[in-house]
Amino acid sequence: MRKKFIAGNWKMNLDMAGARALAAGLKGKLSQSGVLERLDVAVCPPFVYLTTIAQVLGDSNIRIGAQNVYFEPQGAFTGEISAEMLKDVGCRYVIVGHSERRHVIGESDDLINQKLRAVLAGDLEAILCIGELLSEREKGKTEEVIDRQLRSGLALVEKHEMARVTIAYEPVWAIGTGKVASPEQAQQAHAFTRGILASLYDDSVSQAVRIQYGGSVKPDNAADLLKQTDVDGALVGGASLKVDDFTGIIKAGGAN
Ligand code: PEP
Repeated sequence: MRKKFIAGNWKMNLDMAGARALAAGLKGKLSQSGVLERLDVAVCPPFVYLTTIAQVLGDSNIRIGAQNVYFEPQGAFTGEISAEMLKDVGCRYVIVGHSERRHVIGESDDLINQKLRAVLAGDLEAILCIGELLSEREKGKTEEVIDRQLRSGLALVEKHEMARVTIAYEPVWAIGTGKVASPEQAQQAHAFTRGILASLYDDSVSQAVRIQYGGSVKPDNAADLLKQTDVDGALVGGASLKVDDFTGIIKAGGAN
């Protein structure tokens, strides 16, 4: 049985006061509820708020993730942040390959693979995002895109390291659009993803790796998505910025 994993991606939102208030609100609501014993929860604030949010969350069992990383461990890379630095400020997870990094910033499959391997080498856990554009889905290329992004993203990653990798299937057309994939579309993509993992590694890896769904997850659609056999959690953008919405999604995950 895979433990569900719900992560909130705050993207480039909030100010310091808002970030603190959100973290404190989540801690207050979730700490007493018992749900944090049943599933894993993380928030991914902007880099500049990581240290503060780690302090606010303290020993609450709500973990911290970063939204990005650079693949080099240190040196003359102005403006970049290494995996070691993220670990140093209390991060456990790092998102790599988010569609906004792929399609807005222009990161290549190869760069994403270098980042993912840096996360693992830095003793952190990676959330590798994959997912097709609307035009790719309409041309029937969803599986081809998943296949390519998974194989390139996981190149040179060894079987034993897969215990520290979560996959997030995030169809790009569903991110921030309010257009959520149907539970059937999500299940189909997740089952396909699990099949690729079995071919890249073996059945034990494919059955153990958690596959989150991301794309307009809200409290009112979370339960139906999280009920699907191969949906092991959610990566949540917009709805992770509101205490009630994010805790609603987490509680839906805890009930499934
Ligand atoms: C995301 O940021 O990964 C995401 C899925 O955003 P949203 O939930 O807003 O669609």
